[in-house]
Amino acid sequence: MRYQINQIDIACPCCQNDRFDKDYRQLNTKGATFFNLDWANKDAIILVCKQCSYISWFMDEPEEIR
Ligand SMILES: [Zn+2]
Repeated sequence: MRYQINQIDIACPCCQNDRFDKDYRQLNTKGATFFNLDWANKDAIILVCKQCSYISWFMDEPEEIR
C-alpha cells in the first residue's frame, strides 16, 4: 500500500520505496505515565518499508493512496 500525509506522497528515506505496511505502536512508557504526559499515551502510526524494513513514525494517520 502507498500512503500520503498532507497531500505529500511518503517514500522511504532509506531506499525511496513507496510501498509500506501500516501498524500501530503505543508510545507510553513507565516514565511518561508517572509524569502524566497525555500525548505520550497516544498510539503512533508506523509505516514499515516493504523493501528494506525501515520504520517511519507518524503521530497523524497517513492516508492510503488507492
Ligand atoms: Zn526502504
